[in-house]
Amino acid sequence: MTTPVLDHLSRPLGSLRLSLTDRCNMRCRYCMPEEEYLWLPRESILTFEEFDRLAGMFLGLGATKIRLTGGEPLLRQDLPSLVRMLSRQPELEDLAMTTNGILLADQAAALHEAGLHRVTVSLDTLRPERMLAYARSPKHPQVLEGITTAKKTGFRAVKLNSVIIRGFNDDEILDLLEYARAHEVELRFIEYMDVGGATKWSMADVVSRADLLRVIGERYGPVQPVAAVGWGAAPAERFLLPDGTQFGIIASTTAPFCRSCDRSRITADGTWYLCLYAEEGIDLRHFLRQGASDGELRALICETWAGRRDRGAEARHALVDRGVLYALEGLRADPRREMHTRGG
Ligand code: SAM
Ligand code: SF4
Ligand code: SF4
Repeated sequence: MTTPVLDHLSRPLGSLRLSLTDRCNMRCRYCMPEEEYLWLPRESILTFEEFDRLAGMFLGLGATKIRLTGGEPLLRQDLPSLVRMLSRQPELEDLAMTTNGILLADQAAALHEAGLHRVTVSLDTLRPERMLAYARSPKHPQVLEGITTAKKTGFRAVKLNSVIIRGFNDDEILDLLEYARAHEVELRFIEYMDVGGATKWSMADVVSRADLLRVIGERYGPVQPVAAVGWGAAPAERFLLPDGTQFGIIASTTAPFCRSCDRSRITADGTWYLCLYAEEGIDLRHFLRQGASDGELRALICETWAGRRDRGAEARHALVDRGVLYALEGLRADPRREMHTRGG
């Protein structure tokens, strides 16, 4: 029997992100721009059984959605086994994954068969040479193949995420939209965020929701907002082009949506963060490995969530002089501050 738990601002514990690994086979400049990284110790990484047990606790407290992320989640060996375990959880209504797509073509069918409902692929450019320069990967054809394979596989939805950055890919806004339209996948533009790890971030490089809507409106005519429904609707605001094409914008930088945020995330080493920007997390691995009972874990999660007041992106938005969240020393002090560890 599900007992919903609300935080201090009456936000439910609705969706959980599991960052399955801090490793990645890309080096996107907005996420992993440095040459060297500190990795989580191997023995600290949760097993699939541990992730499944924690997921069960959250689902028993009102969560209905899980997103697998990372780092690159497809680097986790035998991912369909975890998907199969999670999909047996009776309260789970939506099981999704965010991936850079490089390894997707090979794994899409097995993941779908195991019970994965939805896939979001990050695609920032249609130009292979740009991906090589900006994300240090020559695997652009594999990403596109991943998208088309996923589309054929029968997932409930395949979506694209595009982080738009001034001077990098802001000349591809319309091309990305056309690509999404041609492939019948919904595109969500993401504003460049000053998250941990984005050590090259500057407000001048952010292409805002207003900028995006202007460029798109100039090409297609009036863009209609689509009314948001329910808690799960955030963070993407959706819009319709005159021909009925739908797209989304995640305006976390210029128009944050913390008031309706029902998300939390668990890193690959079992640290639970109540906010993408939170400095500290709760070490759930310690409790798991010390033999905590289900009741003890449930009580810990309930009590922690009930005290949640986080509004990280709103706090960043309120700053007058906004710069990077952490300089390199701050990230080296705790690699869980990195977006690629915490899970986007
Ligand atoms: N590796 C997978 C991928 O790229 O899809 C999953 C993890 S990645 C951290 C999740 C999402 O976070 C991606 O869509 C990525 O574009 C986004 N992201 C990473 N750094 C970001 C930043 N500084 N601003 C906005 N979005 C960012
Ligand atoms: Fe890029 Fe995702 Fe890897 Fe970050 S975790 S470097 S966003 S592919
Ligand atoms: Fe939620 Fe924190 Fe993101 Fe705000 S900044 S939407 S509270 S995760």
